[in-house]
Order: sequence, then C-alpha cells, then structure tokens
Amino acid sequence: MKRKLVFATNNAHKLEEVSAIIDSRFEIHSLAEIGCHEDIQETAHTLEGNALLKARYIYEKYGYDCFSDDTGLEVDALNGAPGVRSARYAGEEKDAQANMRKLLSELKAKSNRNARFRTVVALILNGEEFLFDGVVEGKILEEKRGDGGFGYDPIFVPDGFDETFAQLDAEVKNDISHRGKAIRKLAEFLLQRD
Ligand code: IMP
Repeated sequence: MKRKLVFATNNAHKLEEVSAIIDSRFEIHSLAEIGCHEDIQETAHTLEGNALLKARYIYEKYGYDCFSDDTGLEVDALNGAPGVRSARYAGEEKDAQANMRKLLSELKAKSNRNARFRTVVALILNGEEFLFDGVVEGKILEEKRGDGGFGYDPIFVPDGFDETFAQLDAEVKNDISHRGKAIRKLAEFLLQRD
C-alpha cells in the first residue's frame, strides 16, 4: 500500500518536480489536497526554522507525515542576505523583478559576486523530525540573462556553467540545483526507512 506524505506547498511546479524524484511507493499530496488553505506564516529567522515551522503546523493540525522546504539566496558581499528573506527582499509583494533590481543595486560596484542557493527540507515521520539540505554555489551577474525559471534565476550563474539558471534546461537545473539535491537526500532517506 502506498504511504501518504504531505508536501507543505501548493506550488504545482515544485510538486511535479518532487513527485518525479520520490519513490512511487509514496503518494505525495499538496496542502490543497488535504484541505489546508491557510497561509502558514514563515516567521522564523533561519531556513531550518521556517521549514520546521511549516512541517510542524501540518503534522500537529492534520496528523499527516509531511515535509516542507525553504530556500534562500545567500550573497557573500551582503553577509548572507537576502537569505531567509529572499522572497520578500524588496517588499511583501514577493515581486521577483523588484527583488532582482534591489539585489543588483546593492551589489553595484562590489567585485565579490559569490553566492549560493540553499534549500532546507524538514521531514516529520511519526512525530520524528529530520532535516536535509542542498546547496549550489555560483555568481551573481550584473544584469539579467534568460527568461526561463523563476525568482533570481536570470541573475544566477551556477559554478561550472556559463548560462544562468534562467537559460539552462529545467532538467539540467534540477540536476544541479539546491532543491534537487535536498529532495534527493530526502528521497534516499525515505527509501532506506521504508
Ligand atoms: P521558497 O522557500 O522555495 O519559497 O523560496 C524563497 C525564495 O527564494 C523564492 O521566492 C525565490 O525568490 C527564491 N528562490 C527559491 N528557489 C529558487 C530558484 O530555484 N531559483 C531562483 N530563485 C529561487
């Protein structure tokens, strides 16, 4: 029998990406599918804190085994900002274009362009908590390139590539990305536990 696992998201793109990686013995359900329509506030000050907060909310309120993810872009010249505030860097509207404009402006005249995307996944299985992470190192460009992907993709070039995340094929991005790595760690763990 398939085991039900809730992914604390309603992002269809993420659901599809994750369902393709996680073994088919697990049935992945979105928040909408379990009748959760509330906006779970991400009030913690770290990626780990926010990922745990979302997973605990679902486990405690709905009683399902579940996992959640939280991602941030950490820029060295900005002491790790925007980090946990990546989605709302330029304001509550979560506007990707405004976020990129702000980041490029903060980095103007800075020669150190090193940055990384970091994803933390929090899993709760029978009340036990586990954390997994995934990192991709790269550089922030001085202007946008490409129109694929989302968020900061047009200004991030992963190490070992000349293209931005917005120019690379989705498959290539999933292969090397922060989220891909963290989710594969989760998938391997679930396989071993089953
Ligand atoms: P979330 O935790 O996955 O919602 O990510 C928080 C924010 O980080 C998003 O709103 C984006 O601004 C940024 N972000 C996360 N993943 C990516 C990615 O793969 N590419 C570009 N930006 C991302």
